Amino acid sequence: MGTKCKKCGAPITGFWAKIAAIAGVKQSLKDPEMCNKCDSETATPVATPVAPVEQPKDLFEAEVKLEAPKVEEPKQE
Ligand SMILES: [Zn+2]
Repeated sequence: MGTKCKKCGAPITGFWAKIAAIAGVKQSLKDPEMCNKCDSETATPVATPVAPVEQPKDLFEAEVKLEAPKVEEPKQE
């Protein structure tokens, strides 16, 4: 039986580790009881650059602008 990552349970040694390695999960070099993904998670807390957050906000504002005229639209016959 192989060793499993103590954090996420991914196989890091043995037969299943070879299959996990294809998916990019390998035994951590720093902690042999963890996979490289959990290891990088704990090692680098502030590594990911912030994704563009303004885009959803613009979409929301555009939605509001589209809805606003509908409400105020006077009924003309
Ligand atoms: Zn893990």
